[in-house]
Amino acid sequence: MDSVPALERRDVRFEQTVDVVVVGLGVAGASATIAARQTGGDVLAVERSSGPGGTSANSGGLIYLGGGTALQEACGFGDSPENMAAFLQAALGPGVGDGRLQAYCDGSPEHFDWLVSIGVPFRAQFCDEPNRESTDDAGLVFSGGEDTFPFDEIARPAPRAHKPQCLDSAGGFLMERLGVAVSESGARTASDVRADALVVDGGEVVGVQVTGDDGTRAIRARGGVILATGGFIHNEAMVAEHCPRAHLPDPVWRIGTPNDDGRGIRMGLGAGAVATRLDAFECALPLGPPHRLARGILVNRHGERFINEDAYTGRIGLDALLDQDGFVYMITDDVIHERNMVGLHVGYAAATPAELAVDIGVPPDALARTVAEYNEAAGRGEDPVFHKRAPFLQPIGVPPASGIGAVDLRVDHGAIYATFTLGGLATDCDGAALDAIGSVVPGLYAVGRTAASLAAHYYVSGISLGDGSFFGRRAGSHAAKQAQRSKT
Ligand SMILES: Cc1cc2nc3c(=O)[nH]c(=O)nc-3n(C[C@H](O)[C@H](O)[C@H](O)COP(=O)(O)OP(=O)(O)OC[C@H]3O[C@@H](n4cnc5c(N)ncnc54)[C@H](O)[C@@H]3O)c2cc1C
Repeated sequence: MDSVPALERRDVRFEQTVDVVVVGLGVAGASATIAARQTGGDVLAVERSSGPGGTSANSGGLIYLGGGTALQEACGFGDSPENMAAFLQAALGPGVGDGRLQAYCDGSPEHFDWLVSIGVPFRAQFCDEPNRESTDDAGLVFSGGEDTFPFDEIARPAPRAHKPQCLDSAGGFLMERLGVAVSESGARTASDVRADALVVDGGEVVGVQVTGDDGTRAIRARGGVILATGGFIHNEAMVAEHCPRAHLPDPVWRIGTPNDDGRGIRMGLGAGAVATRLDAFECALPLGPPHRLARGILVNRHGERFINEDAYTGRIGLDALLDQDGFVYMITDDVIHERNMVGLHVGYAAATPAELAVDIGVPPDALARTVAEYNEAAGRGEDPVFHKRAPFLQPIGVPPASGIGAVDLRVDHGAIYATFTLGGLATDCDGAALDAIGSVVPGLYAVGRTAASLAAHYYVSGISLGDGSFFGRRAGSHAAKQAQRSKT
């Protein structure tokens, strides 16, 4: 990957000096900006588009928090940092850093209070439709398969996706509130201003060069530059080189804005930081809502099941794409299926599993056996192989159903495999960027999807806005303190 070379201090004339420069005003940059101001820093936030928002504003607004937040308690769910950490370690790994995870889980209840304190409201109402934001303004949902196998045996299930109080998708509302909080914090902001390159002095990042309508200028940062520029799903070359498996689904389902072009990551590389886990990505294959469609079964090219269908959609999507080569059908019937929110429809219908298998191109004997074994156990309310939960166990293709059908979920046949990148610059728990030997690159921070954070391999919905706001806040505060130290 081509880095964006840093400029040398001696070749640059700074036109402005502040304590902290934040690059990008999505959830991570806005949180960094507010926290830096709350720590007493003089902050300038530059945003390449016309105002705060980024991909964060297009999101569902789910924020993954737990450990016993006030909202969880008000909704009657017990949780603890240890319980939350046990779940996330299993659900996001392998490779989740223990220190980072512990900091996140321990700090999560207080971080929820902080979001409320800066003007983000939540309604204490649990919504029993998992994996996406509630359609009303209910504030708490399951969003990572916490109550599904195997996680229900690893940690006590607790819903942790906190949705700001707003009907349906809440990302726009969240960013509106954070935008107001940024303004009220007294931070200076500059829109339509793009960061081009970092400025270094003897290995330390001391500023950034930006370009706006009034031309190009350099800004000195006493405490640090915080890169919060999003990921790289819309950089074709970077995805092809580093995350080729995310290249498989139709690009139309790549999630983000065109500004998720990886420039922040490349700027960090140019200043001596390293990137890590660039091949990690989220891949959601939505079967619902409604979640009751999980009463169907998913089969691969061998006509066999491969996962419990009530699992989190991001887990199903990644396994379907990577382990099953994107060859997946949902086997269902006219009693179970209804056209769902993302338009899934039964494209094949037959009288028997074997006949259906011929139509969809999987071995007839295998599909007949898969359905027969599933139906036999489901009739007893059990799923001994994949452990789908009882509410989703219902024999398929038997009366009163009129036959058996299949929904085409093959990756090259138009199914939604929604992807975005999870890798980025390596950082410590304060968002400080790290070099190849794990030392801090002085003056440089990376947060949000510009950094590789908690989602090391798998994903849970809400962890982007969660870790982006959490570590963004820590980076802002840390950089502002660094600036104070530099003045004494
Ligand atoms: C439909 C949808 C639903 C989603 N739902 C959820 C959800 O419910 N919960 C969840 O956690 N995640 C969700 N996500 C993912 C989540 O939105 C993103 O991963 C997250 O918002 C990234 O935040 P960020 O602050 O890192 O980046 P962004 O929010 O993208 O912010 C980065 C900002 O940096 C700016 N920028 C980029 N380059 C430069 C530059 N060189 N100079 C200046 N500015 C620059 C960009 O314009 C942008 O404003 C969803 C995404 C989508 C699209």
